[in-house]
Amino acid sequence: MAKSPETEHPVKAFGWAARDPSAHFSPFNFSRRATGERDVQVKVLYCGVCHSDLHMAKNEWGLTQYPIVPGHEITGIVTEVGNKVEKFKVGDKVGVGCMVGSCRECDQCTNDLENYCSNFILTYSSRYTDGTVTYGGYSDTIVADEHFVIRWPENLPLDAGAPLLCAGITTYSPLRYYGLDKPGLHIGVVGLGGLGHVAVKFAKAFGSKVTVISTSINKKKEAIERLGADSFLVSRDQEAMQAAAGTLDGIIDTVSASHPLLPLISLLKPHGKIVVVGAPEKPLELPVFPIIIGRKVIGGSAIGGIKETQEMIDFAAKHNILPDVEIIPIDYINTAMDRLLKSDVKYRFVIDIAKSLKPE
Ligand code: NAP
Ligand code: ZN
Repeated sequence: MAKSPETEHPVKAFGWAARDPSAHFSPFNFSRRATGERDVQVKVLYCGVCHSDLHMAKNEWGLTQYPIVPGHEITGIVTEVGNKVEKFKVGDKVGVGCMVGSCRECDQCTNDLENYCSNFILTYSSRYTDGTVTYGGYSDTIVADEHFVIRWPENLPLDAGAPLLCAGITTYSPLRYYGLDKPGLHIGVVGLGGLGHVAVKFAKAFGSKVTVISTSINKKKEAIERLGADSFLVSRDQEAMQAAAGTLDGIIDTVSASHPLLPLISLLKPHGKIVVVGAPEKPLELPVFPIIIGRKVIGGSAIGGIKETQEMIDFAAKHNILPDVEIIPIDYINTAMDRLLKSDVKYRFVIDIAKSLKPE
């Protein structure tokens, strides 16, 4: 009799899962596949908490397979390698981001854009090639094809660096692709959360002038004094928004909830570009005249390919770009999700898996 995919998963694993759209997390025993010939097994040390984890746990995008073990900002140590693995050895520090598979043959994959492969496999709540559901980094161990594993620079901390694997690449990639990485440009970053605060750091490293556009006046002082932003706009302050009209070359919009685009588009110069990376549950309204007048561009962007993710990690290590994190134990995750929803985190929660995740 054919074995079910589950019985071919002999590696015992333990994590925290949500079972339904209430998105309440609790301990969960499951299993992972044995380390295949091109696979790397990783002991998870840290995992960032992305707002996508919350959207997915609540099934806001209609994609979720329960139980869901989220987590796609994973750092850890290699504990086992398959006999054809070339990039890694036992003991190496590594990262696993948002993807664990893709077709590897299509135009996107062969151009290092696995993230745009129509068959790409997400790190969690996706179907793997063996038919099983993928589980993410809110867990003690993960097995992944070495192609999707990132080399970790010696001088980059595994805890605070973990959010670069999603928040970092999701903001680095559009700044590069849309040509918003040239020194002297004036870049707006909308939403000062996990993605937004890293966007500020990359844009500053590229030599831009940076304006943060936020709903939270209480983030102003830190945005300027700590994160290095040049100016700060409160989005509901219409007077200040009008005074800043037509001043930005580009905008990275990281907002996780519905919000009006018109006030943001108004901030762009002619030929300015607004790139939407935030993924609210409901569609945004696009006013066309402000786009037509001034030949403005509205674009999107999803994470980044593996080659670019490695480039971004190496760039961050070289330029000392490190997310600002609040380290939490796994049993704080439900409170952390409540706070994330209220934009009450400066600026990314990272779970200390190794210290706090104990098998039941
Ligand atoms: P986050 O830490 O919660 O940050 C989102 C920020 O948006 C908040 O800090 C808040 O900033 C602002 N915001 C929240 N509600 C708002 C509202 N109603 N109106 C205006 N602003 C609001 O989330 P994140 O982890 O950075 O993720 C941001 C979004 O990007 C999520 O939707 C996530 O799913 C998505 N995402 C997309 C990709 C991709 O590949 N495209 C990758 C990762 C994540 P202020 O307090 O400054 O206003
Ligand atoms: Zn993410």
